[in-house]
Amino acid sequence: MGENGSILVVNAGSSSLKFSLFRLDAADALQLAVRGQIDGIGTMPRLKAKDVAGKTLVERDLSLEEAREVKDAIGLAGAWLREQFPGEQLLAVGHRVVHGGADYSQPVRVDEAVFTALEKLTPLAPLHEPHNLAAIRALRETRPELPQVACFDTAFHRSHPQLADLYALPWEYYEAGVRRYGFHGLSYEYIAATLPQAAPEIADGRVIVAHLGSGASLCALRAGQSVDSTMGFSPLDGIPMGTRPGAIDPGVLLYLVGQRGMTPAALEKLLYKESGMLGLSGVSNDMRQLLESPEPRARLAVDYFVHYVAKEVGALAAVLGGLDGLVFTAGVGENSPVIRARILQACAWLGVTLDPDANQRGDARITAPDSAVSAWVIPTNEELMIARHTYRCVIAV
Ligand code: AMP
Repeated sequence: MGENGSILVVNAGSSSLKFSLFRLDAADALQLAVRGQIDGIGTMPRLKAKDVAGKTLVERDLSLEEAREVKDAIGLAGAWLREQFPGEQLLAVGHRVVHGGADYSQPVRVDEAVFTALEKLTPLAPLHEPHNLAAIRALRETRPELPQVACFDTAFHRSHPQLADLYALPWEYYEAGVRRYGFHGLSYEYIAATLPQAAPEIADGRVIVAHLGSGASLCALRAGQSVDSTMGFSPLDGIPMGTRPGAIDPGVLLYLVGQRGMTPAALEKLLYKESGMLGLSGVSNDMRQLLESPEPRARLAVDYFVHYVAKEVGALAAVLGGLDGLVFTAGVGENSPVIRARILQACAWLGVTLDPDANQRGDARITAPDSAVSAWVIPTNEELMIARHTYRCVIAV
């Protein structure tokens, strides 16, 4: 049992709720105890959880009545955790909240006024924010005494200079919130916090972090602060992703709506669910499957991904005025030596010299000792970042 209590981290989406329990040990350090999720909320719900060693603790189907909505799922997760860890004292809950708008540059403890302010941000992230807030609301109703902290995917990017926050639209749109917010901020913040130990020689320098997962983006860091990123107003912009196209000429969207009569709902489905690697390949959104597929269009999709990541590395290196280090993280970045090698080969002109053996082994540093720009593989940990923020907001105040 956690000697000093525990912190629950929640990431609530439209059809799944992920949760992790961190315990405070005798030295008040956060130790992961369990990681679980309820998938198929509202369709075919299923609860799964593993302990820190990866041993399955539970894997069972739930009835639809048990998990119709996020609020049911959070209740179920709580009940299972109480059963699993009787007597554990839950100190606070930290939530991943996708959008913090223009004002939240830090995590925030949620009270009535904050909750109302967050509800007003829903139009900026209509696919994600309502589910994030539903989990907070459900816990406010059932456990009003429990401190809750909202940790935003956008917050880390509020250090961007104004130029990186703007679109060249009439000013009234900026005032109304049409800005380049950036996302994956909790991942980038974790990497920035880890660099002084993991890669001290670049921690204070000019670094590009490539968060390459099913969602993917790049972030330019100067001395650990975000100065620019490839995602903008929404998580659609930037490099191509599993099912999202990345940057696209807005003229294409005008054509689809104006000439092809596409509705906003159909456009949303096309851009969030049917495009990217899946749309291009016609095979899969999953990089592993694409790399194994003999289909020419699967190869083309991989070529496209590598080309656009390398192109955006060049753009962000220009923003930074040069480059000291490149960090790979998330599913593809942490696990695919092939993709890392191909991206780094395309970035050779920047002074990156790959160490093929180190890359194949997945060492922390994957460039040759004399490489002018070093490249690294650093696993991200967004849940731990949320747990740390929650600890700081509630316990270490
Ligand atoms: P994430 O969203 O961070 O969980 O990343 C998911 C993506 O990582 C999927 O496209 C997976 O195919 C990809 N991925 C995971 N392991 C590997 C691997 N060994 N090689 C290539 N891609 C991988």
